Amino acid sequence: MSVADFVRAFVELNTKFVLIGSGLAGGLLAAFLGRRGYEVDLYERRGDPREGNTVGGRSINLALSTRGIHALEQVGIAEEVLKHAIPMRGRMIHPAKAGQAPIFTPYDVDPNKHINSIGRAALNTTVIEAARRYPNVRVHFNHKCTEVDIDSATAQLVPSSAEAAVSAANPETIYAHGDAVIGVDGAFSAVRQSMQLKIDNFEYDESYLAHGYKELTIPPGPDGSWQMEKNALHIWPRKSFMMIALPNPDGSFTCTLFWEFEGPRSFATTKSNDDVRRFFDEEFSDAVPLMPNLLDDFKSNPTGSLVTIRCAPWFYKDKVALVGDAAHAVVPFYGQGMNAAFEDCVVLDECLTEFPPATAGPSRGGQDRQRAFAEYFERRKVNADALADLAVQNFIEMRDKTASKTFRAKKKLDHFLEATLPGIYLPLYTMVTFTRVPYAQAARRAQVQDFTVYVTIVVLVVVLAVAAFALLH
Ligand SMILES: Cc1cc2nc3c(=O)[nH]c(=O)nc-3n(C[C@H](O)[C@H](O)[C@H](O)COP(=O)(O)OP(=O)(O)OC[C@H]3O[C@@H](n4cnc5c(N)ncnc54)[C@H](O)[C@@H]3O)c2cc1C
Repeated sequence: MSVADFVRAFVELNTKFVLIGSGLAGGLLAAFLGRRGYEVDLYERRGDPREGNTVGGRSINLALSTRGIHALEQVGIAEEVLKHAIPMRGRMIHPAKAGQAPIFTPYDVDPNKHINSIGRAALNTTVIEAARRYPNVRVHFNHKCTEVDIDSATAQLVPSSAEAAVSAANPETIYAHGDAVIGVDGAFSAVRQSMQLKIDNFEYDESYLAHGYKELTIPPGPDGSWQMEKNALHIWPRKSFMMIALPNPDGSFTCTLFWEFEGPRSFATTKSNDDVRRFFDEEFSDAVPLMPNLLDDFKSNPTGSLVTIRCAPWFYKDKVALVGDAAHAVVPFYGQGMNAAFEDCVVLDECLTEFPPATAGPSRGGQDRQRAFAEYFERRKVNADALADLAVQNFIEMRDKTASKTFRAKKKLDHFLEATLPGIYLPLYTMVTFTRVPYAQAARRAQVQDFTVYVTIVVLVVVLAVAAFALLH
């Protein structure tokens, strides 16, 4: 080992990251940083998920795909996670007309390409466990971050367990000081709020959809089996709204209704059991017999909102950075929010490796971390923005277009072109879901492909029409 390598390793070992939020990305990032030998203190406002403290108010299951799997592979836990996953090979579209059989459309021309339904709580526990394998990572539950002093990289935390709230009128404040604080604390990030307050010209934009979501359940059949096709993502597209269902390992399905908050027919106007029953009978008649707890679920489960958050910059000097939803919350219609958050962890890890701490001089350990944070922001921001747009566009596709014959014909054409022009033509969904092509590049490439295909079709039609005219005359 050269002297420079030795000094670098020493500096890394003595660099401490304070992470706020041990959700999906927080646990994974702690594992990445722990693996590099950094000191990591991870603070989470909730209790330990292994003691049954579930992540309330969020989706129960998620679709995990190539980008997320690649990130999990880097810390050696992909296999462990996928053991509990259920492959979903395509969309199962449930028509509006009662009695019509659902129609299956595969996700890709290659039948081995699938997305994976995975339980949020189990995944969260697995990433935290992966982080805890490193003795240099410490996880502190029941600690809520209230503020961050971004100049000194110090997080202010208060105990947040139910007992602490009851027993302490003035909860004791803790100050966690690190070389850097990383906000992995989700869409309503306290770390980001501190940056917003203290950084001049900090850009922030949040936009809510007019739709909310509510989770409902299709329980397992009497023999514990799945009551619908297990290896598919089920969609009930109804133009302005939709319901989807993802399978769980216990034989149940978690359904999510995405519906307008307000309007003549909406969450706001559908309150009584009769209203709910009538709405479901009219719109989801094949699902109703499978949902014995529909009315209770509808009444007791919260209605969540759907937000897109964009901000800039995602870092402050070498002191603070944002990762995952804290930097870029997107609506869930491409099934990519968590996958993108996991990809952030990979890119931040790459940047910290590419721009390691300075080994000498006054900026020892500091200046290059700022470069690493800046580079991470540069590489990810444009892609997070592209994903935010794609996710909103895909809501329209899922709730409206998936029901149409034109959509199915387009998917068949996509698969035909992908098979005949391997490596040249890649459908947008395939690039986003089954590759690690950066989101912005995928969006641009899909536009060029679509334009080329439409022009080719128009030219072919014109040529055929001219040929037919010439033959007939
Ligand atoms: C309905 C729905 C369905 C979705 N489906 C998918 C899908 O199929 N595929 C996909 O890839 N993505 C999906 N997503 C997106 C995905 O849930 C998020 O992108 C992902 O959870 C982001 O991870 P994160 O770690 O950045 O944030 P979070 O998972 O939100 O974790 C943040 C953590 O920080 C903690 N925290 C917050 N504030 C503080 C504080 N002040 N102090 C201490 N701790 C704090 C929270 O308790 C939490 O544990 C879906 C989202 C929704 C709403």
